[in-house]
Amino acid sequence: MAADDPPLTLGELAEIPVQRLRGVGEKKSKALAAQEIFSVLDLLQHYPRRYLDRTRQARIEELDPGSEATVLGEVRSISTRRTRNGRTLTTVEFGDGTGRLSLTFFNQPWRERQLSEGTEAIVYGKVDLYRGQRQMTNPVVDLVGDRTGRIISVYPQSEKAGLHTWDLAAFVTEALARCQPRGITDPVPSSVLDRFDFIDREAAFRGIHHPESMTEKAEARRRLVFDELLRVQLELVRRKRRIERDTAGLAHQVDGELVSAFHARLPFGLTGAQQRTIEEINTDLVEARPMHRLLQGDVGSGKTIVAVSALLVAVQGGMQGALMAPTEVLAEQHFLGVSRLLEGMNVEDPSTLMGDRPLAVELLVNRIGAAERRRVLADLATGKVDIVIGTHALIQEKVEYRSLGVVVIDEQHRFGVEQRAALRDKGDATAAPDVLVMTATPIPRTAAMTVYGDLDVSVLDEMPPGRTPIATFWARTDLEEVGVWADVRDTVADGRQAYVVCPLIDESEALDVSSAEETYERLVNDELSGVRVGLLHGRVRPADKEATMESFRSGDIDVLVATTVIEVGVDVPNATVMVVLDAGRFGIAQLHQLRGRVGRGAHESRCYLVGDPVTSDGQARLEALVASTDGFHLAEVDLELRGEGTIMGERQKGRSDLKLASLRRDREWVESARQVAFEIIDSDPELDDHPSLRDEIDLLLADDEAEFLMKS
Ligand code: ADP
Ligand code: MG
Repeated sequence: MAADDPPLTLGELAEIPVQRLRGVGEKKSKALAAQEIFSVLDLLQHYPRRYLDRTRQARIEELDPGSEATVLGEVRSISTRRTRNGRTLTTVEFGDGTGRLSLTFFNQPWRERQLSEGTEAIVYGKVDLYRGQRQMTNPVVDLVGDRTGRIISVYPQSEKAGLHTWDLAAFVTEALARCQPRGITDPVPSSVLDRFDFIDREAAFRGIHHPESMTEKAEARRRLVFDELLRVQLELVRRKRRIERDTAGLAHQVDGELVSAFHARLPFGLTGAQQRTIEEINTDLVEARPMHRLLQGDVGSGKTIVAVSALLVAVQGGMQGALMAPTEVLAEQHFLGVSRLLEGMNVEDPSTLMGDRPLAVELLVNRIGAAERRRVLADLATGKVDIVIGTHALIQEKVEYRSLGVVVIDEQHRFGVEQRAALRDKGDATAAPDVLVMTATPIPRTAAMTVYGDLDVSVLDEMPPGRTPIATFWARTDLEEVGVWADVRDTVADGRQAYVVCPLIDESEALDVSSAEETYERLVNDELSGVRVGLLHGRVRPADKEATMESFRSGDIDVLVATTVIEVGVDVPNATVMVVLDAGRFGIAQLHQLRGRVGRGAHESRCYLVGDPVTSDGQARLEALVASTDGFHLAEVDLELRGEGTIMGERQKGRSDLKLASLRRDREWVESARQVAFEIIDSDPELDDHPSLRDEIDLLLADDEAEFLMKS
């Protein structure tokens, strides 16, 4: 590599096989391949998982029993014996010159080979006192080899394959040294580097692998995290802008009379958040590019009013609106609610004597029967229907619109590229309708920016006034559960109603059903005998389901025992108590949704989470729900507890370019990266002036991955 060649790009580094490095023979290259390290770039992106700062490490004599500690020391002796119950017990005497620590390992006889006398290692674990001596049980062990330097980087390694952290450190050292003459290119504009005070990329690679200080490591990490996030955002923003550019949209008139008449007749004023989101949506609607916006709002935040306002913009311009729900039951709920909201409103119609006619809202689901269905379809095609409500069937081929202007999709997490194409075809051939996606499952803002990176996001972060917060209790003991049923009986005696959600059984629907049936039997015969109880689960026939729901709505049933089929959409203001059995098995978002089924009327509502989860995560979830009713806060807690994998999807996490960046820890950098991505793309849409950035994106973000991001 000659010094006067231009700096190495990541693409070039990806072309250099690791075998070129000194010390990488057949055996090591196999071991590296097992860790998915094939090229020098893979190696440079195989980041240390830990660092040990020798100047600040704990000394054994100072270790506090009960605390977690990291200790660097040497194996003094090791022995293994069999315990009475047949397990092996390996004991290591470990020292650092200040004291002795004994390490015990159960059923890990291979430690004998790993930790032979004289081996230097770092151990991490909780310090206990056993017969007056400090010890750790099953600590995490990293071998460090014979390494000098103030800070030791510890790599994810594979002892089985004979790949040690010092091997990796040596290969990285060699790789960086070989890069030095030419240097490593830095494709991020220097104005961005200046703005955030970033070190250059080559220094960042050095700093992450061989830091002289923990500050240097932090600076390096900051820079590399930004690079990862910037690549993802550039790709998302580039695609978002492409769609906006390539798809013609409708320029709606937003200041018509219909929408203001709708707002004026509401029995309440709009919340500030509703006004703001309606404004944001209108800004999209007036522009002649298709809106693709996500409306996030907690249960009860008043999304329906916002959605209907958007649909009415289409209607007042003589076009049609469609509202899609994930299930038929929910579509019917929406139909009832929206019809009620718009009852008695008229739309202009010059073909009539009076010049107007009643605004027509129709339901399109299987239950309505063939003749009715034919009529609705025909009226959609001629424009006699103004707003249609249904499931995904609404965008099937058979459904023809006279002129579809705005589509609202409720609770749709996977509105993908195909659906978008289908929608485009529903427009009037030249322009795609505007799309608003609503979700009641808030996800943290920065996660939304990554998962829904191609959507604009509006947030309803304010609850309508006058709602009594739902008091939430965790009934952990049997005695507390007795109190829960007493409260349910009292509630019923007061003329209110309650839900009971049955334990969730993962394995099969059949088991869910039998658990629901058992719970129902038990309650009817015991805790709730004498109370009118109904049962709903996935195997109940649709007609019976509807009849049961109707009885509950009308108050003929006091308590509804159900599986999670009631999770979304059911709206019975007289229901004031929610009991969730075996609550530890539900996720935070699900529990929050369930809780949102109560607290819809004027009466005080309560939610009981019953159960004593065995896992600490389960306990943490219930504690979080007791402590907060704010869906966005809970979403953050959830992200904290579960990690981003669950949001990004396991598949994507595995192959993601996000090796260092964490959507939790690096929240602020997600925002900055997105902002920078917009700046760059808006001045250089296809990155023609930033070829090396573009190459990196193409190199590091596999096509299907970007596609996946877009589909989420
Ligand atoms: P979401 O769909 O977000 O869960 P809804 O749209 O169903 O919430 O609204 C929940 C309840 O709040 C409804 O009964 C609705 O009429 C009422 N509501 C909506 N907006 C307001 C407001 N600005 N002031 C008072 N009540 C409101
Ligand atoms: Mg538009």
